[in-house]
Amino acid sequence: MQLYTKISIALVAGAAAGLAANLLGIDPLKSFLVFIEPIGTAWIRLITMVVVPLVFASLVVGTASLGDITKLGRIGGKTVLYYLATTAIAVTIGLVLSNLIQPGSRIDPAALEGLRSTYMAESASRVELAREAPGLMEILLRMIPRNPIEALASGDMLPIIFFAIFFGAAVSALPAERREHVVGFFDGVNEAAMVMIHWIMRLAPYAVFALIGAVIARFGLDVLQSLLVYSLVVVLGLILHVAITYTLAIRYLARRKPRDFFRRIREAQLIAFSTSSSNATLPVTMEVAEEKLDIEKEVSSFVLPLGATINMDGTALYQAVATMFIAQVLIGDISFTAQFTIVLTATLASIGAAGVPSAGIIILVVVLEQALAGTGVDPAAGIALVLGVDRILDMCRTTVNVTGDLTAAAVIERSEFDYALKHGGERAA
Ligand code: ASP
Repeated sequence: MQLYTKISIALVAGAAAGLAANLLGIDPLKSFLVFIEPIGTAWIRLITMVVVPLVFASLVVGTASLGDITKLGRIGGKTVLYYLATTAIAVTIGLVLSNLIQPGSRIDPAALEGLRSTYMAESASRVELAREAPGLMEILLRMIPRNPIEALASGDMLPIIFFAIFFGAAVSALPAERREHVVGFFDGVNEAAMVMIHWIMRLAPYAVFALIGAVIARFGLDVLQSLLVYSLVVVLGLILHVAITYTLAIRYLARRKPRDFFRRIREAQLIAFSTSSSNATLPVTMEVAEEKLDIEKEVSSFVLPLGATINMDGTALYQAVATMFIAQVLIGDISFTAQFTIVLTATLASIGAAGVPSAGIIILVVVLEQALAGTGVDPAAGIALVLGVDRILDMCRTTVNVTGDLTAAAVIERSEFDYALKHGGERAA
């Protein structure tokens, strides 16, 4: 049986067990599912363990074997532009749907009161956390690590990427014999990381069962009921973004068959859905890019770690819908100018969101504050409205975040190939 099939079965079985425990009120089953949750958590730790060595080694090898360092600047420029453009499109889809469906006007006032009283305290603590989040300028400055070992030790992705590229570029400037030593070493590290991923992935079905079972068993289905229209708007937006934006990008920019592409990346999507973390999924994303999509390492080793950190279309779309929903509930409607601010702030805020569970809702505070400035909306009151379904929506938006990263890798690879053809580069030959 293929690994993908096993993981799918585990996901369905976990969801079914969780639902049974939840809906039928089978307490021993619920306790059992919560009891085995550490299996899932242990697995997430295991796969996260590979992230830093994998990203560092593959990026050093990728950069050092580029041959031409201007190429990296070109790839970098295109990647960032593509990421910004697709994120802005995602936000726009979220806004259009929120205007059409008006999820905020379809909620029962009694349910609102319930949400407010249940989630207000938790929401206030999220707002506190948001206060500690660095601004965009600080994120940019922090990209340059004062001490690379510190960045590696704390798994800080942007400074790691920065240092790995700088180091890789320096290695490529060494005399051939020296260079081969260093590249050979990091190539070995990279391959060993891949072997670890293969081993860890064999355990994925058990982890997925444990993670999904516990989430669903614990989940308050009544919350889902009162926030159903809102949740459906988010999910519909995510589906449209994949079905339209990514499908067009895969067909016309990457010139691949979308159906085949989506079939090949299923494993990464399932892991993203189960873990709610782009960072934890990163090793699987990189493996899928290399082994299932045959994307060149020089592209994937750069585009994917960067994407896991700064490219979050699902998160941005979610923030747009959540802001609109909160505005519709608390102040009735929202002006066109404020909606334009949402496009800007949600796009930038999704860059600042870390690829870990629930990061999106903390950054939502920033979007709320900027887009609804002057309206008297208290961010904590707003967050309290949507917190109840955050975990479930996090799973969906993370799946889109990871799909977006893989789509970008395919698009950038193709455009580099075209560039090489046009300029008679070595790959064209
Ligand atoms: N969990 C998401 C991710 O890792 C971020 C978010 O909370 O939206 O991609």
